[in-house]
Amino acid sequence: ERGRLARLRHTPAVTIDGHKVELLANIEMPEDAPTALEAGAVGVGLFRSEFLFMNRRGRLPDEDEQYEAYRRAVEGMQGLPVTIRTIDVGADKPLDDVQREEAHLNPALGLRAIRWSLADPAMFLTQLRAVLRAAAYGKVNLLIPMLAHASEIRQTLSLLDFARAELDNRGVAYGPMQVGAMIEIPAAALSLRTFLRYFDFLSIGTNDLIQYTLAIDRADESVAHLYDPLHPAVLQLVAQTIAECNAQGKGVSVCGEMAGDISFTRLLLGLGLRTFSMHPAQILAVKQEVLRADTRRLEGWAKEVLASEEPGKLLGQ
Ligand code: PEP
Ligand code: MG
Repeated sequence: ERGRLARLRHTPAVTIDGHKVELLANIEMPEDAPTALEAGAVGVGLFRSEFLFMNRRGRLPDEDEQYEAYRRAVEGMQGLPVTIRTIDVGADKPLDDVQREEAHLNPALGLRAIRWSLADPAMFLTQLRAVLRAAAYGKVNLLIPMLAHASEIRQTLSLLDFARAELDNRGVAYGPMQVGAMIEIPAAALSLRTFLRYFDFLSIGTNDLIQYTLAIDRADESVAHLYDPLHPAVLQLVAQTIAECNAQGKGVSVCGEMAGDISFTRLLLGLGLRTFSMHPAQILAVKQEVLRADTRRLEGWAKEVLASEEPGKLLGQ
């Protein structure tokens, strides 16, 4: 089976009825770029930059060290696009032992991701400058995690302007970037108008979107049986986000685990998704599903799944 899939590596992911589908890789380190290429990824849809910051015993990577790492990822992808997500620590990804010990009662609802970045603008500006500089070496997209409020969006974008101005003042080169937001809080999925006004593209983080929609800690085994990607409320938020982006001609991807699980490929295609980002090891199997799919048949079926009380039953689960 694996040998047969390997032959699909250079086959473009196109559905039977001719829709091109982008299969991108999720990576954690620049060294993962060759693995992504090997797996047939046509770009990186999610570079989880926090892994550069974790287990550093208090000394975070400075601007040059980050810039080198981002540039290595960009060059490693040999001209294909790389979406770099700004740091997403806290909750399930504590920065170090100190942050682990200081854990609050509800870390997933606490100072994580963009909230942590906005609480330390100097640290955040350092990362933004490093990403901007790497963008001079290839096609880079910037992705912001865990946004919910318009005020957070405006603060983030004005810090990005400030980072560009700092580089201008220093006479340092940087490149253009598309800027996108993760949709991973239900409040964000329900405020798409605001998000679409400010951002070039959106990426749906189903791992957190499921956690926050269903109030199920994604790391708590005792409630794992209730962590349901096919809950009608989750599907509705995912479907609306895809439909709104498609209607406005804005890019939209799914970069949570759902994107790499072949039991959801046909449903996501039927909902209009054309960009999937996943662990490199899942790309060829998802590509096989795409090659077998006919979106003309899947669209009506996806509407039935959306309207169902127990969508899992229509997916044979
Ligand atoms: C997600 O929440 O779906 C996601 C892709 O981000 P992470 O798993 O890193 O929180
Ligand atoms: Mg997330």
